[in-house]
Amino acid sequence: MNRRVATLMVHTSPLDQAGTGDAGGMNIYVCESAQQMAAQGIKVDIFTRRANNNHPDIVDLGNGVRVIHLNVGPIDGVTKEKLPALIPDLSAAFRAALLIEKYDVIHSHYWISGKVAMPVAAELKIPLVHTMHTMARVKNLNLAEGETPEPMIRVQGESQVVAAADALIANTDAEAASLVSLYEACPDNVFVVSPGVNLSMFTAGAGKSSARKNLELPQDAHIISFVGRIQPHKGPEVLIRAIAEMVGHSPMLRPKLITQIVGGASGANGAEVDRLKELVQWLGISDVVRFAPPVERAELPDYYRASDLVCVPSYSESFGLVALEAQACGTPVVASAVGGLRTAVADGISGVLVDGHDARAWSSVLARLLQEPQRRVLLSMGALEHASHFGWDATSRGTLDIYDGVISSQASSNMSAG
Ligand code: UDP
Repeated sequence: MNRRVATLMVHTSPLDQAGTGDAGGMNIYVCESAQQMAAQGIKVDIFTRRANNNHPDIVDLGNGVRVIHLNVGPIDGVTKEKLPALIPDLSAAFRAALLIEKYDVIHSHYWISGKVAMPVAAELKIPLVHTMHTMARVKNLNLAEGETPEPMIRVQGESQVVAAADALIANTDAEAASLVSLYEACPDNVFVVSPGVNLSMFTAGAGKSSARKNLELPQDAHIISFVGRIQPHKGPEVLIRAIAEMVGHSPMLRPKLITQIVGGASGANGAEVDRLKELVQWLGISDVVRFAPPVERAELPDYYRASDLVCVPSYSESFGLVALEAQACGTPVVASAVGGLRTAVADGISGVLVDGHDARAWSSVLARLLQEPQRRVLLSMGALEHASHFGWDATSRGTLDIYDGVISSQASSNMSAG
């Protein structure tokens, strides 16, 4: 049966460039899953708040997937922090849209969208599936030094969404456990579906040498990359401090070392990029650390392929798509042993998981790997193998099974009520 799905993500748009502002893995997740569902005959409309004038009200993403703008609140200046004040108006606009076209299921992403969807789903008797992507309580238990904790309004909002959703989708068993233990989710309502990677876009391609040629990077360099939004929680500072340690204890690596920090400021925190640039200067490692603006997805594979190692030093991570993308390009990943990264990286096989965020510990892992090319070749093969298990087709099939489950239980409860 051909389902119609109303996907809701209000704080960032599927049309935004990922890797800067509020756009990241969730945007990729929503677009890739929608395309895979469309390929199976499902119609997906993605509702988002209009935050610029660049697009018409409805944008066709191809294969029947549409982005529908909700014209709510001012176009400019509504940060994620200010958005909760617009929840009632967003619910009203979403409700109005759902009265015009009929949908079988609502799938909300991130707590603000969950709050927007809750009253609409209840009133129109449409089952609600929710994915958190990140959780305040998990973040707050794992803050970087000096990082501002997530506010109570978010914790409360998330708890309400957990209680209201017919099904919660977690990226990993670890996230499912957090939903149950930290948010009192009913275990029967929590389902684990792994996110994926676009295995036709992220490939080993023509290899490292060709990627370095394309990016005008030296063939004999040791290249370590960080890819993602620049925010304390993602730990770029851990990598920077580890590099400073490394050039101290292994000075012979310095002449060939290139560290790339690829991505833009996160949310409204533009100052973090400047702070890190100053830190690099202060540590005296400007010769080995480069900052690059966010890269279009089509160009990202070469950045991964050109790297000897991709580093994901996050303090918590519900999954970490960058880790999977890098591995799908044949690049081993060095990541923190936290949350979803424990699933995204096979420790010792496709990369290395590091406990904690101590710069010296990170530097010793990175330096050893740079000096062991044979080990990197093995990890690279392990990386390709590991990533090959995570296609978006499996994500969308798993999600569709959950939709089917909530649709049929809603139908039977409607029947018994009637
Ligand atoms: N990304 C991108 N260009 C960049 C940096 C990142 O397109 O310059 C994408 C990257 O490919 C990945 C996503 O942004 O798909 C980041 O997802 P991840 O799960 O690693 O982190 P999140 O931002 O969701 O916390």
